[in-house]
Amino acid sequence: MKKMDIRRLAPADHRVLRDMNEVMVLNVIRENQPTSRIDIATVTGLEGSTVSRIVSRLLADGLVREEGLAEASPRGGRKKRFLLINPRKALALGVDLRPGGYGVALSDFTGRIIRSVDVPPAGDPREAAAAIARVVRRVLKYSGDGKVEGIGVGLIGLIEPGEGRMLAAEGLGWGDDVPFGAYLRKALGLELPIYFQNGAWLSALAEIWFGRHARSPRNLVFLDIEEGIGAGIIIRGQLYHGAYHGAGEFGHISLDPDGPPCSCNGRGCLEVYASDPATLRRYRQRGGEVDSIGELVARAMHGEPTAAEVLTETATYLGRGLIPVIYSVNPEVIVLGGAITRAWEVVHQAITAELSRRASHFYLNRLSLMPTTLSARPSLLGAVALVLARSFAVPVIGAMGDYE
Ligand SMILES: [Zn+2]
Repeated sequence: MKKMDIRRLAPADHRVLRDMNEVMVLNVIRENQPTSRIDIATVTGLEGSTVSRIVSRLLADGLVREEGLAEASPRGGRKKRFLLINPRKALALGVDLRPGGYGVALSDFTGRIIRSVDVPPAGDPREAAAAIARVVRRVLKYSGDGKVEGIGVGLIGLIEPGEGRMLAAEGLGWGDDVPFGAYLRKALGLELPIYFQNGAWLSALAEIWFGRHARSPRNLVFLDIEEGIGAGIIIRGQLYHGAYHGAGEFGHISLDPDGPPCSCNGRGCLEVYASDPATLRRYRQRGGEVDSIGELVARAMHGEPTAAEVLTETATYLGRGLIPVIYSVNPEVIVLGGAITRAWEVVHQAITAELSRRASHFYLNRLSLMPTTLSARPSLLGAVALVLARSFAVPVIGAMGDYE
């Protein structure tokens, strides 16, 4: 990869750069372990002295451990000491709320899920909090001798993250202004710190924290296509909040001012055309019978013409909706999440075709568009990452923005 040029950055960026490097080194160790300082320098393009300094800090914090001695190199050079992540150093609990049900997962420091449980949806937020709390207590028993650092919770829609208040929870069938955080704290009755964030934002965070990218992206948009369309924005390594935690509502970019009405008070929003319910509706209108978006996607992948056609249309709308995102955010990576990304060939082709037809090639040539690189549910992994980032990367919190 290209070496970063510190001299070209403003002083304020030194801190960001150093901290992103720390995350990058941790990621490289996690993905290549056992590995060495020399290999880390090669992979990251960082100076050897920078790598040594970062590794010393990680060793002192116990996040990384050192093991064994390699054979001397053929040239008789210095012996290599191998570095490995110390995964049991820190465990984190992630909770993720979705209209279809809730997820609870216990993860080690590397994002490996130790135990994961699905919780069926509840009609009332207090019942939901109680059900989640019961599962959390059960799952915590699997932590063994590891230390659980906290609980990260992914909420949906507009939220007030400090208290975990959901300002519009109608997606979950709970109405407006739900103090879910308070219910959950009470139901849990644990000493552990609890952090809240919008689920789509957490997906973006998970891509930075656990994702498999050739190099750490500094400007990334995660577009989550589910019941609605949410997005998380990372700018210069920081989660972008906006003034009132309302940034990234790209689902309400209007594609047609005379289109069908949307819940946001607008018309013809991207979400009205490209969310999972919209895709399913179009398929059914053409006589297709299907129970879930997963089933529709599977049919498209097996070449069923109507399913493929409907999915192509959805992706074409997505392409159109991404144009203002590309122009306003200018990300280097756009990551898409959600069931439809499993049919990546179909989706990617249609988005790219639409973008090439309508957007500036200056931007397109410098943009990579990819499905999520995460194996588990991105927002659930993001809830885990929220805890680990808070607990273990204090400088990185400064770099990524406060998570509250
Ligand atoms: Zn809307």
